[in-house]
Amino acid sequence: MILKLLILAVVGVMIYRFFGGRLPSIGKTADEKKLDDDTLVECEKCSTYVTVKESIIVQGKYYCSHECIK
Ligand SMILES: [Zn+2]
Repeated sequence: MILKLLILAVVGVMIYRFFGGRLPSIGKTADEKKLDDDTLVECEKCSTYVTVKESIIVQGKYYCSHECIK
């Protein structure tokens, strides 16, 4: 019985993490969803390549840092 509760707890945490990891992507356009987190994108301003995960997306364009958005 305790084992079942443990399994339920682990599954619950996994589901929580799954949705927790997905929620930030809601609101992006369809095109942006196709890109993997590790896909390299070019900064719109300085042409530095950064991963999608690290980039900042403003109006559908990728930027390497807040400095480049100014
Ligand atoms: Zn840049």
